[in-house]
Amino acid sequence: MIVAEQKKLDEIKAMLAPYQRILVLGCGTCVTVCFAGGEKEVGILASTLRMAFRLEGQEKTILEATVQRQCEYEYNAAIQDKLKDVDVVLSLACGIGVQTMNEQFPYMRTAPGLNTSFLGQPMEQGVWAERCQACGNCVLDRTGGICPIARCSKSLLNGPCGGSANGKCEISKDVDCAWQLIYDRLKSLNMLHLMEEITPEKDWGTSRDGGPRTIVREDLRIGKAQ
Ligand code: SF4
Ligand code: SF4
Repeated sequence: MIVAEQKKLDEIKAMLAPYQRILVLGCGTCVTVCFAGGEKEVGILASTLRMAFRLEGQEKTILEATVQRQCEYEYNAAIQDKLKDVDVVLSLACGIGVQTMNEQFPYMRTAPGLNTSFLGQPMEQGVWAERCQACGNCVLDRTGGICPIARCSKSLLNGPCGGSANGKCEISKDVDCAWQLIYDRLKSLNMLHLMEEITPEKDWGTSRDGGPRTIVREDLRIGKAQ
């Protein structure tokens, strides 16, 4: 899932300062699950903003809505009528939702209310951890299912650096060394021979370093399906 956090209230207020009528727009998928931008968070933030502006002597109109997935035109179409009543949308979706709204409704400014953080996994109530950086060429088959790109601080592909000590990463004693985790996992699977195979230089062109990517599935395009 995409994990995000709400921006600080002062930053949100500064973005909204020039506008009188505001729509706080949530997203019902990833950011609902990580408690950053679902219907509940929309309600809380809208109330907080009303109070905060009122305390400063400003009466702004703050509307609320939540769509199922803000990254799809089909779902955003449901709130199109509300846009005529506002000057700006404050999106509580990930950055994909914010960009989708700006593309779909170019006459309306949609501003980000969240900081999109990473592709992660819920670990326990209130804790999420990064697990994938969408590199476009997955190597989990060679690493016991542990991602060295997202979980090693240097994204090393051939074993640990010299900073690995007592199973921890050199950046913090609270962070596991990914390559220690990979070693332990491969050992438990009787697959330690994989540690001896050199992973060739990675083509980072398949990751975000290679520029914006588009995946086209011809078989799924309208008029092309079998
Ligand atoms: S190897 Fe690449 S695709 Fe696989 S989990 Fe890691 S970043 Fe994601
Ligand atoms: S200590 Fe381990 S996780 Fe940290 S940068 Fe080195 S190899 Fe990567």
